[in-house]
Amino acid sequence: MTILILGGTREARDLAAQLTERGLPVVTSLAGRVSNPALPVGEVRVGGFGGVDGLAAHLAEAGVRAVVDATHPFAATISQNAVAACEQDGVPLVRLVRPGWETRPDARDWVWVDDISQACAAMELLGERPFLTSGRQGLDHFAAWRDRWALVRVVEPLEPGAWPAWTVLTTRGPFDLDHEMALLRDHDIDVLVTKNSGGALTEPKLDAAARLGVGVVMVRRPAESAEVQVDSVAEALRALELA
Ligand code: NAP
Repeated sequence: MTILILGGTREARDLAAQLTERGLPVVTSLAGRVSNPALPVGEVRVGGFGGVDGLAAHLAEAGVRAVVDATHPFAATISQNAVAACEQDGVPLVRLVRPGWETRPDARDWVWVDDISQACAAMELLGERPFLTSGRQGLDHFAAWRDRWALVRVVEPLEPGAWPAWTVLTTRGPFDLDHEMALLRDHDIDVLVTKNSGGALTEPKLDAAARLGVGVVMVRRPAESAEVQVDSVAEALRALELA
């Protein structure tokens, strides 16, 4: 009886390592969006399940005894699908999601928006030299800024020529404070746009923004609907009664 981890995050990899160390059969599922993903230990499957029914069928066929949804806080569709499929099959579900960031008292300007569609308008009020780190998905909401300069950082390349006025950095973190300070300074950035991903790996950009007086537009997380939610790997193990 396998434990299925819905992955794509550092927490998912840490959990897979802990479960494997305990000799438990674990399979991590990845969406397959990234060409060269960081792989967890243990078995890995790649690709969508085909919605709620597909996931429910997979849980039954693969003999899954519990699901840990350790996907990114902004991967809302798969999280909703996990709730529905686990309910349908009577399989226990634990949602593991890292704590979010809070407004920083040392920030110059810090504006929360409810979703990515509001980020461009908020950004325009805070600066003229934006740094977009909110991910490839959702960039269409910055269409109003298409002809003005922006620095954008993405993991996977953007469609060539789609954003001709922008400087595009295709790279994967983590990035330390020195790196982020230099990047903001070199490009004369005055506003940073980010999703509330949380966690330490991508936090240095917020430290750098605070130190350099760069404004922040922070996109709120989508709502969670799983009944059992934990914010650390240790708590996930406890919830699975394995601590
Ligand atoms: P999403 O919008 O919630 O999911 C869209 C569809 O992708 C789902 O309906 C599902 O397809 C498939 N899918 C997503 N995660 C999957 C997984 N772990 N295993 C198998 N299928 C999965 O997700 P997203 O925002 O595109 O994120 C995709 C993956 O990237 C997630 O696993 C997430 O942890 C990781 N990630 C996302 C972000 C982000 O900012 N969104 C950042 C870092 C990492 P079917 O309906 O066909 O099953």
